[in-house]
Amino acid sequence: MSDNASNNLQDLQYFGEYGGVNPSISDSSTYTFISAKTMFDTFEGNTEGCYLYSRHSSPSNLYLGEALAAIEGTETANVTASGMGAITAVILQLCDTDDHIVSSRTIYGGTYAFMKNFLKKFRIGTTFLDITNIDAVEKAITPKTKMIYCESVSNPLLEVADIEALSKLAKKHGIPLVVDNTFSPLTIAPAKLGADIVIHSLTKFINGTSDCVAGVVCGTKDFCLALKDVNSGAGMLLGSTLDSLRASSILKNMRTLHIRIQKHSENAQYLAEKFEKDGLRVVYPGLESHTGHNTLKKQMNTKYGFGGLLTLDVGSLENANALMEMLQDQKLGYLAVSLGFYKTLFSAPGTSTSSEIPMEEQIEMGLGDGLIRFSIGLDNDIHRTYEMMKSCMLQLNILKKNTVTA
Ligand SMILES: *Cc1c(COP(=O)(O)O)cnc(C)c1O
Repeated sequence: MSDNASNNLQDLQYFGEYGGVNPSISDSSTYTFISAKTMFDTFEGNTEGCYLYSRHSSPSNLYLGEALAAIEGTETANVTASGMGAITAVILQLCDTDDHIVSSRTIYGGTYAFMKNFLKKFRIGTTFLDITNIDAVEKAITPKTKMIYCESVSNPLLEVADIEALSKLAKKHGIPLVVDNTFSPLTIAPAKLGADIVIHSLTKFINGTSDCVAGVVCGTKDFCLALKDVNSGAGMLLGSTLDSLRASSILKNMRTLHIRIQKHSENAQYLAEKFEKDGLRVVYPGLESHTGHNTLKKQMNTKYGFGGLLTLDVGSLENANALMEMLQDQKLGYLAVSLGFYKTLFSAPGTSTSSEIPMEEQIEMGLGDGLIRFSIGLDNDIHRTYEMMKSCMLQLNILKKNTVTA
């Protein structure tokens, strides 16, 4: 697959209102009109390029949206105050009471909880299933189904969705394919593979500095305008609006995204290969042993690698906790949720987030209590990191001396 994602980004050029190389930050919640008629038309959604009120849109948010649409190859994009703000708006925009969703069973915990618990209020049901089983996905679709929902690379098990196959299925049934691409920006461009709507939590890799939460919906002009509709848009009416100051800081961070993703992937690939050789239970899509390796390979922009996430199963929760504490003591990273930071972040997702899956199956899939999810950082000397991590695992008897490769 050709890489025009970062090319599109590099083709964007901004001029601030005084000719600055960064666009000026819009510091207003409301906007003046010369004529009352124009204000009326803007309310009705009829005037392009006019701003009314910053919950609807603002220049800074549009600039950031433009950059995100460029990397995803969609017509446009709406930014939101969080990833969940993007996900919930999309779902509530597409579904009415008594509708139905077909979703991957291994998705972000918040999304899972929203579908499973919150959507009950609207009697919207979700069938959670193994998204890599295309037959099962097709069988689950009913006349009430309003979308197929998945993550391109799933949380926390790093399952890889076959977006082309899912998109064919979605088109056949006349429903949209919605893909959360938070784990694999640049590596995968779901819209180019047929996804209709692409969502990100910008909180993670795209912003990359763990200093804010934000999200985006990338899609067609029609859909993004519908989300902003003053009378019926879930984005507009639920009100998870990103602040302009934040939009501008995220836009600046985005300019190094291609370099960061390459480094995250390079470091994660290095560690995954070493850990696998050491006999550890490591899951990383860049390993040939990974069930989604070939699916990812055929969909990816090769130069960005297989991403920065890997999981290690260290056998028990006690082992996981001891290892994470020791790694943090050694300054190898932080015991913290989230991902995409310059330092490695690790947490134990445990068996709690994917309770749709029977317990034996969770263990079988590798969703045991001893699972640690790592978001590998931008370490300059990854070999030294590996040596230090290995030493921690030897001290804790997670690795036995005689099994370690030289
Ligand atoms: C973090 C995350 C979200 C939620 O995003 P927030 O910015 O925390 O609201 C959604 N999907 C995935 C895959 C995530 O990792």
